Amino acid sequence: MPQPNRRVLVRSIDDISIEEVPTPQPGDDELLIRSTVVGVCGSDTHAALGHHPFIDLPYRPGHEVVGVVAAAGKGVQDFAPGTRVIIEPNLYCGRCAQCRSGRYNICRQLEVFGCQIPGGMADLFTIAADRVHRVPETMSDVRAALVEPLATPVHAVAKAGELTGRTVAVLGAGPIGLLVLAAARHAGAARIVVTDLLDTKRERAVRLGATDALPADATGLAAEAHAVLGGPADVVFDCVAREQSMAQAIDLVTKGGQIIVVGVGAPGPTPVRLDLVQDSEIRIEGTLMYTADDYRTSIDLITSGAIDADEIITATYPLEEAGKAFAAALQPEHVKVLITIAGT
Ligand SMILES: [Zn+2]
Ligand SMILES: [Zn+2]
Repeated sequence: MPQPNRRVLVRSIDDISIEEVPTPQPGDDELLIRSTVVGVCGSDTHAALGHHPFIDLPYRPGHEVVGVVAAAGKGVQDFAPGTRVIIEPNLYCGRCAQCRSGRYNICRQLEVFGCQIPGGMADLFTIAADRVHRVPETMSDVRAALVEPLATPVHAVAKAGELTGRTVAVLGAGPIGLLVLAAARHAGAARIVVTDLLDTKRERAVRLGATDALPADATGLAAEAHAVLGGPADVVFDCVAREQSMAQAIDLVTKGGQIIVVGVGAPGPTPVRLDLVQDSEIRIEGTLMYTADDYRTSIDLITSGAIDADEIITATYPLEEAGKAFAAALQPEHVKVLITIAGT
C-alpha cells in the first residue's frame, strides 16, 4: 500500500502549504529516507521572501535534513534500512576542474538539494547514497540537525588557516555568525569580537564565548573593536555581506589581514574601498557551503560538546506547521528553528 507522503511547498512567505506527492522509489545508487528533523535555514526564509538570488519560487525546501534509511537501491551496500543519516545537499557534476580538485562545493554545475531541486521537508524522499553521512550513535537527531548549518562556518573558518592565538571579528550574530564564532573558538582564536544591531543577539554571542559583542551601528566601531581585540583583527568574517559591513570589515582588519565573505551578498555591485584593500594587502575571499571534510569536522565539534545546542535551537514545529516555522525563523529572537516530522 502506498504510504502518504507530505511535502512542503513554498510559493511565498505567506503561502506555505503541504502537498501530497507519491513516495519515490530509490534508484540503484539511491536511498529512500524518512525525515525526522529538518532545519529552516536563512536561505529558506530569504527564498520564501523572493530575495534569494539562486532559488526561484515556488520551491520545495529541506537541505538541513536528518532521517532514517527506509530502503536502499540494489547498488547500495553501506546503508541498511534503519541507519540514521544526515544529508550533504550539494549535488555536483564530478567532472569539472573544481570537482576534480576536490572543491566540489563550487562545482560549475552545482545544484543544491532543497534549493534548486525538491528537498527533504517531507515524510520521504530519495537521494544518492554518496550524499549522506551516518549520524553517530551518541548524537540525537535534533543535534544532528546542526551538522549542516555548522559545516558552512567550519568551511569558512578553515579558510583562515591556523587561528590559534589570533584575533577575529565576526560581523552579524545570526545563526551563521554565531556558529562561525563557535567554530573560530574551537579553532583556537584568542579573542573574538562580534557585532550585531540587536542586543539580544549580542548577549547570545557573549554567552557562546565572544570576548565582547558591540552594536553594529556604533560610531567608532573600529576603535571599540580594536580595544576588545588588543589591536586590529587578524581575520574578519563578514556574515552580513553588505556595503556597510564590508566597509567595517576593512576598518577592522589588520594590514595583511584576511576578510572572509560568508553572507550571501545582495544581487549587483557592492562598493568596496579597493584603495585600502591594495594599500594594506588585505585578502578578501568568498566561502560557499562545505565538502565532506567539513561535515566530519562539524560532526566532531558537535560530538565534543563545543556547540551549546540549547543556545542555537530556539524553536521546534511539526511539519504541518511549516508556515509557522518559517514565520518564526524570520523573527530576530530565534536562531535555529527546526521542523520535526510526526510519527518518528
Ligand atoms: Zn542552510
Ligand atoms: Zn563539477
